[in-house]
Amino acid sequence: MKAGIIGGGISGLTVAYYLQKMGISYDIFEQGEFPGGNIKSTITKNYVLEMGPNALHMTPELETLIRELKLEDEITEPKAEAGNRFILQHGHYQKLPETILQLISSNFFSWKTRYKIMQERFLEPQPADPLETVSHFIERRFNREVVEKAVEPLVMGLFGGDPEQLLIQKTFPQLVKFEAEYGSVLKGLMKSKAEGRRIFSFKNGLQTLPLVIASKLIELHTNAQVEMVTRSHGKFIISTSSPEYTSSEYDILVLALPAHRATSLLEFTFPGVAAALRNVNYPPACVVHSVYRRTDVKFPLKGFGALHPKTEHQFSVGSVWNSSVFEGRCYEDEVLFTTMIGGAKLKANAQKPRAEILKAVHEELQRNYQISAERPVFQHFYMWNHAIPQFDIFIEDAQELVKTLESENVFVASNWNSGISVPECVKQAAEVAKKIQALAASQTG
Ligand SMILES: Cc1cc2nc3c(=O)[nH]c(=O)nc-3n(C[C@H](O)[C@H](O)[C@H](O)COP(=O)(O)OP(=O)(O)OC[C@H]3O[C@@H](n4cnc5c(N)ncnc54)[C@H](O)[C@@H]3O)c2cc1C
Repeated sequence: MKAGIIGGGISGLTVAYYLQKMGISYDIFEQGEFPGGNIKSTITKNYVLEMGPNALHMTPELETLIRELKLEDEITEPKAEAGNRFILQHGHYQKLPETILQLISSNFFSWKTRYKIMQERFLEPQPADPLETVSHFIERRFNREVVEKAVEPLVMGLFGGDPEQLLIQKTFPQLVKFEAEYGSVLKGLMKSKAEGRRIFSFKNGLQTLPLVIASKLIELHTNAQVEMVTRSHGKFIISTSSPEYTSSEYDILVLALPAHRATSLLEFTFPGVAAALRNVNYPPACVVHSVYRRTDVKFPLKGFGALHPKTEHQFSVGSVWNSSVFEGRCYEDEVLFTTMIGGAKLKANAQKPRAEILKAVHEELQRNYQISAERPVFQHFYMWNHAIPQFDIFIEDAQELVKTLESENVFVASNWNSGISVPECVKQAAEVAKKIQALAASQTG
């Protein structure tokens, strides 16, 4: 039995890694020169720049993978102050309260809202509604101020999303679980906060993880774009742009590529699924890295970064303060910002000409962080034409339909099916490898 895996992002690489460990034959095809997909790091002029994720949450699945790959020594831990998150309010960055005590004593929310938050514990829980949006859920349990001041900027920053469109069950399933289990989101949050979650990166950036997985794989084929998938006598025939792999046969197909890219490949074999995948929405986003001399920045950068609510009318979604999060991201006497522009609510800004974006980002940083420099010491731009898949009503159909493909020996390991975060991608990829192992065992046994 042989599996053909399409896509060399973290999901496809993890499936391939576990299949190889299980002794199951596979080929993995990646269109690009380097594997990693959305996890993309660049080291230039001593700056460690991230185009995708800047930090990951450690989970048991990631811990196992990192231990097996002997990558522990490459890990970089966050600085003590990196736990602080800021939100712009009336033109000033305000620290997001971390504990209930901080929430009550700070003036981040109005008195009325703080009272509402405390009262949430006594609200009647409602039965889960699969079509309830993030903003509706938060407004129902708390109020509009919580949506606008905290949840909306968070959703824009994490998912490039719009809380009026994203489904609560798909975006924050944990919150729905808290309502069901404890009868209160607040009670659930207090309990989960006590458990804690640590963030980390690697000294040379997060792409270390996919690159090291790739280095272990015997059958990874880069510069091999899959152009067509057909089916004949129960076998999948994968045709690629690589002269070595013009056409090869597989018993199992693993889709580890974005939904919009899978659409054209499934058009002939599974047209119904292809149609559903076409509707999955990927708003554009771009990322700007800016370096300034530390002495030119008046604002104390003591935290992970800051986000902008829509009501503040800013150009960007917000920035990560990389030099305050991990050591060695730039020279000691400099600071590095990674700014995200675009996403579902600010799409038009990501589509402006590059020079205009760079100028607008510099002016915004200058204003918000009281930067005296005329220009940054260094700027870098990266465009994601299709950034993060949106878990809105269209994802429901796509996820439901791809489940039916498993009986046809087609498995999906990709962020639009697993969940957006890298830990979720790794978890699902490990599960897909196990399913393939069980299938192989059932056919030989
Ligand atoms: C700007 C940004 C910020 C993010 N921030 C975070 C964060 O802070 N924390 C976090 O956990 N996650 C974050 N994410 C999300 C996370 O990085 C992704 O969800 C995850 O990396 C997706 O992995 P994947 O393998 O499922 O898909 P991808 O990374 O999209 O990989 C798919 C691969 O398929 C390849 N491919 C496509 N078509 C073909 C074809 N026809 N033939 C061959 N290969 C093909 C692509 O080149 C790509 O390498 C962020 C993402 C972005 C874009």
